[in-house]
Amino acid sequence: MVTRINPKFNCKVFLKDKADMKLLKSGTRLYGQFVESTGSIFMMPYRPPYDCLPWLGIVNGKTGHENENPLLMNVYIDGDSITTAGFVGKQHFEGPAEIVYKSAAYARTPFNNDDMKTLWNKTVLIFGAGTGGSKIALELIRAGVGKVILVDFDRLDYANISRHEGDLFDVGKPKVQVVAERIYRINPAVQVETYTEDIFDRSFDEINAIFEKADAVVAATDKTAPQLQINEFAHRLGIPLIAGGCYEEALGGEVFYTLPGEKMPCLACLRGGMKQPEQKGEIDYSTASGPQDYQGQPGLHAAVDFVTCIEIQICLAILLRESKTSKLTAMLHLKRNFLLIGGAMAQGFYRFRKPFDIFYQPLNGPKKNCVVCGEFNPEELLT
Ligand SMILES: [Zn+2]
Repeated sequence: MVTRINPKFNCKVFLKDKADMKLLKSGTRLYGQFVESTGSIFMMPYRPPYDCLPWLGIVNGKTGHENENPLLMNVYIDGDSITTAGFVGKQHFEGPAEIVYKSAAYARTPFNNDDMKTLWNKTVLIFGAGTGGSKIALELIRAGVGKVILVDFDRLDYANISRHEGDLFDVGKPKVQVVAERIYRINPAVQVETYTEDIFDRSFDEINAIFEKADAVVAATDKTAPQLQINEFAHRLGIPLIAGGCYEEALGGEVFYTLPGEKMPCLACLRGGMKQPEQKGEIDYSTASGPQDYQGQPGLHAAVDFVTCIEIQICLAILLRESKTSKLTAMLHLKRNFLLIGGAMAQGFYRFRKPFDIFYQPLNGPKKNCVVCGEFNPEELLT
């Protein structure tokens, strides 16, 4: 047993599970952060997105203090135990490292082991990393989802901070980067794929390839045109789609979902028919990049989150729909796939009669003449 020299510091190595000990081969770099207030030196073998954290340790590195990085630790593996030696500033540290497994961060989950395993093996493709998308991505990770693909070409602006998971120090970064960096700090073993572009500018095959990785697609952009493009790809490839959005001032919102192969209306069936609440100009809370994008009164973040949090739970229910034990799946019903959500200030707005007026809006459909899921034949237009 190695005793700790300099009890001021404690070293922690984060691993997904015991099997990932094999990642700690000689020469492997460990990335992380020294937290001065607790004296904790966190290290993990998973490369951080956008190099947001420096490398702090190297397995079986050279002893001594000759490296440029004053925090660089040498990490030694002996069977299942890890010891570290190095300098924190001018102070020498040497001693055993605590191994923190992913399961420690998910110790108080409402899901059983089978459901956690299911979630860890799921990939969710999220369009939009603004107010809604950033929240959805982080909450799915907190629930145990193992991989997300984030698509957004926008960068974080000061005007976004009051309604985004990012903060002042993130202004100027692509929004997908802001979210990816936060995900790494919640669970470094999660896989994050990011696209800082409109992927619909790519070739048909490339777009298909991105969609095909996903077990569910979330359209977290309020703009209708991209939502319908997303719907078209998700429907053709048989991937569940979840779309949510807020109405004016986030007085209320809606969540829609459709499951493949269940003869449910698709998003194009819905958008072609239902009258949306009147809006004073174009308001788009989740994708607005600056004050110029808000032509009406923007909503309170807590009111937007009220809708988003319902959308997140529906997304988890869809990922767990084969589960025998999760209570979330009771929400899923072929005729209850369009939820209207009135918030605290919804009374008298649109179809809401009281604060927190939440109800399923029955939908007719699928529509026979829907351009995406119906019997519509585009060649008829040409004749
Ligand atoms: Zn349709």
